Amino acid sequence: MAEVYAAVDLGGTNIAGAMAGSDGRLLCERSAPTRSHEGPQAVLERIATLVQGMSQAVGVRPAALGMGVPGLADLKAGGTRFLPNLPTQWRDIPVRDILSPKVGCPVYLLNDVRMATLGELTFGHGRTASTMAFFALGTGIGGGIAVDGKLRLGPLGAAGELGHQTIIPDGPRCGCGSRGCLETLASGPAITAEGIRLLKAGQAPRLHELVGGDVSRVDPREMVAAAAAGDEAVREAIVRAAEYLGIGVGNVVTALHPDLIVLGGGVAQIGPLLFDTVRETVRGRVRMFPTDDVQIKPSLLGNSAGVLGGIALAMKNGLIES
Ligand SMILES: [Zn+2]
Repeated sequence: MAEVYAAVDLGGTNIAGAMAGSDGRLLCERSAPTRSHEGPQAVLERIATLVQGMSQAVGVRPAALGMGVPGLADLKAGGTRFLPNLPTQWRDIPVRDILSPKVGCPVYLLNDVRMATLGELTFGHGRTASTMAFFALGTGIGGGIAVDGKLRLGPLGAAGELGHQTIIPDGPRCGCGSRGCLETLASGPAITAEGIRLLKAGQAPRLHELVGGDVSRVDPREMVAAAAAGDEAVREAIVRAAEYLGIGVGNVVTALHPDLIVLGGGVAQIGPLLFDTVRETVRGRVRMFPTDDVQIKPSLLGNSAGVLGGIALAMKNGLIES
């Protein structure tokens, strides 16, 4: 039997796991709650159990495990450096040393969005592109860059933080410590906050109806529905966020002249209003060369981009060059 690989995508609320062969066809998919408040040891124990369960279901031990973490990882040492959104922030947890004996194979770590970029590069739209950038649009805006078919990691594995490029010099304060980052303007929470503001100001009657006046139910999806039903101010808010995103995408296009830009994550599901605005903004802002050959597409892999990136990471021995 050909070699089989395992992948784990560690998120703040869920752990996604999968096993697949080198063709990227998923043989098994499982998930478990992260319960991050229990601390790194308990979470890693849960990950080991998840991988062991998948190995039993598939009937073969994986040749390697690729694991994505929400933050900075030390690729060579196989440990976490800093996961800002998890309790205790997981500073210098030797994940590989703890997990490897339990799952019976080598364990490789990578930032989660860089891992999703690797997934898209290996099994998604990236198969026909050599230089690409991935924008993961969700609670924050993550990113990843591949140049000439190779993921660009930089000395700390931190290259490609596309959500933290400055768009407005004196804009809102960002979680990273800077101001006016793309993430503060076009992430899910940024778009939602604008929807809530419009609802409270009485400028979003359709949105008010859709959520029954309950601001906790406002999200980008409801806002798209409200815009389609006639809320012009809500439509403008979505377009403005998409223009900011388009400026960020345009900066990347100017720097790299890539074949492909992939927009993934929940906010990308806004659909044509987002994609058309981003494409138009890129055409309007990038004037030094024609951009018609730069494709801007939704992720081909959708929610599986992360775990398929983990499979690719396992296949490629953690991208560690000997
Ligand atoms: Zn930032």
